[in-house]
Amino acid sequence: MPQIIRSQKVYDVCIIGSGAAGGGAAKVLTEGGLEVVMLEAGPLLDPLKHYTEHLWPYDLAHRGAGIGGTGYNASGSRELDVAFISGHIEGEPYTNAPDSPFGWDRARILGGRTNHFTRVWLRMAEADFKGRSLDGAGYDWPITYQDLAPYYDKSDAYVGAYGTTEHIPSAPDGVFQPPPFPRCSDVIIRSGCKKLGIPCIPGRAAILTQTLNGRAPCHYCNQCERGCRMNSNFSSSQTLIPAALATGRLTIIPNAMAREILVGADGKARAASYIDKSSRTEQQVRAKAFVIGASACESARLLLNSKSTLFPNGLANSSGVVGRYLMETAASGVVGYFPQLAKLPPHNHDGTGSVHVYTPWWKYDRTNKFLRGYHIEVYGGRNMPRVGMFSGVLEEVEGYGNSLKQACREKYGGFVAVEGRGEMIPNELSHCEIDPSVVDQWGIPVLRFHFAWSENEIKMAADMNETFRAIIEAAGGTPVSENGSSTSRWGHLYPGGVAHEVGTVRMGSDPKTSALNGFCQAHDVKNLFVTDGACFTTNPDKNPTPTILALSWRASEYLLDQAKKLNL
Ligand SMILES: Cc1cc2nc3c(=O)[nH]c(=O)nc-3n(C[C@H](O)[C@H](O)[C@H](O)COP(=O)(O)OP(=O)(O)OC[C@H]3O[C@@H](n4cnc5c(N)ncnc54)[C@H](O)[C@@H]3O)c2cc1C
Ligand code: SF4
Repeated sequence: MPQIIRSQKVYDVCIIGSGAAGGGAAKVLTEGGLEVVMLEAGPLLDPLKHYTEHLWPYDLAHRGAGIGGTGYNASGSRELDVAFISGHIEGEPYTNAPDSPFGWDRARILGGRTNHFTRVWLRMAEADFKGRSLDGAGYDWPITYQDLAPYYDKSDAYVGAYGTTEHIPSAPDGVFQPPPFPRCSDVIIRSGCKKLGIPCIPGRAAILTQTLNGRAPCHYCNQCERGCRMNSNFSSSQTLIPAALATGRLTIIPNAMAREILVGADGKARAASYIDKSSRTEQQVRAKAFVIGASACESARLLLNSKSTLFPNGLANSSGVVGRYLMETAASGVVGYFPQLAKLPPHNHDGTGSVHVYTPWWKYDRTNKFLRGYHIEVYGGRNMPRVGMFSGVLEEVEGYGNSLKQACREKYGGFVAVEGRGEMIPNELSHCEIDPSVVDQWGIPVLRFHFAWSENEIKMAADMNETFRAIIEAAGGTPVSENGSSTSRWGHLYPGGVAHEVGTVRMGSDPKTSALNGFCQAHDVKNLFVTDGACFTTNPDKNPTPTILALSWRASEYLLDQAKKLNL
């Protein structure tokens, strides 16, 4: 019989996961005086080893294209991306129900996906919290913008984000550093927007343009997905977790895959059972309270796998909503080719690894063909050439040597992507559940996904497509994406393609229809909190991470308060 090793120590709090949710909770709880242990399924992160933002393709094995060139057509950067695994984790599969495409992007490393995310930093607006009251679709959150605003402010000020104050109702302002100047590609797209009467304002991103707490400002190398040894962009591993470690009250257990939360006879969570991946042994760590921040679907998986006599449907799941209401971001994009950009003399046009300009949702005061809205992100610039970058040219141009190089040079820098990110309204068909017959290499039952876009998201994608083509043409470019029709679903991205999955352990005021209250605390288990995107009630057009961090910060302050009052 396998031996289970139990910790002697009882920590104040056990946090599971170290991304925005886990890192945020670790900072606030340890600074508040609690002894915290963190289980992280991946290894610790060493920036000198894992962050590669200044390496050239020729510095890397296979020029960065992966063994056998597997990363070549995907963009060629795969061995350069610190946290990239494209949903494939050796020995840790997931499954899809028939006709239910859903790609699950995961990272297994300290800091999770915050090591490589694009860092677009948008807070939700007042209307985003009460969609159902406003137009009857979806659900209302149990909290308001005013409840969360102070925590958005605190996290903006600590993380460091650029942007401008604009007073736009659909895009509340934050605590901003000055934005970077627009790139040539941004100036061109902005001119197209202007002709069409579409606003295009400075971008908002969690990247420093000024020194903050000893962190240097960005030097515009545009390689944020590969980390940043300068620590100029936000990642949980370099920004939140060091603050928690500095208190001396955080213990991190790396390579620790939580498999179950165990409960006592009093119905409270008492221990986390985990697999120590290095020794392949099962261990237990005990704590007085638990914060789950393993990312939306991993958190649902952990709760569903935590079955007991008291909680036969999984922990915190008396409502039956755990795993349900899975939402992604509705998204479509059009790439434009601008010969005027391609003919520029070589110059540094890289910028940050995020948006320098963007368009907040601008049609909120009109009647549209769909409910809710989307924002526009603009990506251009002359990034560092990488393996795979010219694969499109190679498909079009025959030849080799100087003439081929010339063709590549002519196209280099000439493409700009105009991308839409829109709200998905929760539906009954989109959810995840435990697959009854598949386990991972640790013996932990895996998730099976069901997913369907509704007509609303498809109509939104059609509007994005039409609008982006018009912007590109008004700016003097030619749309090159072949996705402007209903047969191509207007370029609507593969579900999971934006990696903004949320909603699987949602919050709400009614314990019969939600798993958590407005403080991310389980209705059924008062010493259990879920603070990642799983707790979202809806998924507005805003990219989720600032809201995850603000919610985790708020939940942690509430936990501190309840711990002081001996209420947990
Ligand atoms: C390419 C890309 C670009 C993105 N761009 C943006 C953007 O511009 N703006 C934005 O707001 N968002 C963006 N996102 C989304 C953003 O990355 C996530 O919202 C954010 O990382 C979520 O934080 P999290 O803490 O919930 O989870 P994660 O960052 O995924 O971290 C979860 C951690 O938990 C660990 N874990 C999982 N299961 C277990 C377990 N059972 N036991 C122990 N540990 C476990 C994982 O190893 C991981 O380290 C992007 C995502 C991707 C992939
Ligand atoms: S663009 Fe700026 S923030 Fe991003 S990796 Fe380069 S220096 Fe760091």
